[in-house]
Amino acid sequence: MALLIDTGLSDWMSDAEIAESVRNSAPGLDVRTPESLGNADEVTMIAVVGLRDDHLTQLPNLQLVQKLGAGVETILSHPALPDHMRIARLKPDAPAQGIAEWFLAYILCTQRNMAFHEAAQQRAEWAPKAPIFSPETVVGVLGLGHIGGRTARMLHAVGFKVLGWSRSPKQIDGVTCYHGADTLSETLGQCDHVCAILPSTPDTIGMFDAAMLAQMKPGSQLLNAGRGDLIDETALIAALDRGTPGHAVLDVTSQEPLPADSPLWQHPGVTITPHVSGWYLGDALAEVAQNYQNLTAGTPLLHEVDRLRGY
Ligand code: NDP
Repeated sequence: MALLIDTGLSDWMSDAEIAESVRNSAPGLDVRTPESLGNADEVTMIAVVGLRDDHLTQLPNLQLVQKLGAGVETILSHPALPDHMRIARLKPDAPAQGIAEWFLAYILCTQRNMAFHEAAQQRAEWAPKAPIFSPETVVGVLGLGHIGGRTARMLHAVGFKVLGWSRSPKQIDGVTCYHGADTLSETLGQCDHVCAILPSTPDTIGMFDAAMLAQMKPGSQLLNAGRGDLIDETALIAALDRGTPGHAVLDVTSQEPLPADSPLWQHPGVTITPHVSGWYLGDALAEVAQNYQNLTAGTPLLHEVDRLRGY
């Protein structure tokens, strides 16, 4: 049995660096890269960012695809994915902390009128403007899993009124939790800021269409760090033009990198960050080593994906 690391990326950690880090977490593991593959029949687990056709055709004894990240939609939708293939994802603390901070940072920018004050400074103009008081501000968090739960707790600790929304019922101290599709518009209608951190699944794709955007509070802010396909971007631009919502902050877009001719770049109501909210992997590679050991021992995997549910 062997674990193959194959990200195919040139602008991130190299496969050799990832392999070294996995070996350091659990010395003695048989961890390979495409350069040191040897007998492909021995590979039972592969760690990837995206699954390629050749992973499935050239590794006949593959049992587990480990996503080096959280979103597994492109793996699950691979047309040649066999029914028996198991999928696991990562749930490290570092990106959850980073994404919660990203939401907080952009919410505070609005609360404190930062863009207004920067513009006034450019004009050498002393222009007092009242900040918005956080205890009177309602923030909704859509998705209360690993990242959303942490985001909701952080926002509550800072002093916001926090509403949460998920598929199944949740209890989080200080957070009013809703669940189920029927409660989404009621939740949105109360929020000054909406933080979306949902997976891409058949149920969530296009969830923010024209009708759902119209349920938001006029002038409110929509922040998305989950997946870009949650939002119908054409409908978003039309909705922003009407002022409901008033602003969107997007770390993810339906096409990444966002094409230079996308109207999102130039729209005054849109702020874009290039998928950087959850930058650091932290100790995530220890989870990869642990999953290889669990697979080998036949014990339950860490963060195995429910293929039917889609996350
Ligand atoms: P989790 O699986 O821990 O949580 C997902 C949450 O979404 C759960 O609370 C789940 O509800 C909820 N959910 C899923 N489907 C629905 C639905 N149809 N209606 C209502 N709620 C739903 O995932 P994470 O928090 O770890 O990550 C969430 C997503 O964030 C990832 O799938 C990935 O796409 C994205 N991501 C983005 C990153 C970035 O850098 N921008 C980095 C990491 C992740 P329930 O609890 O009831 O199951």
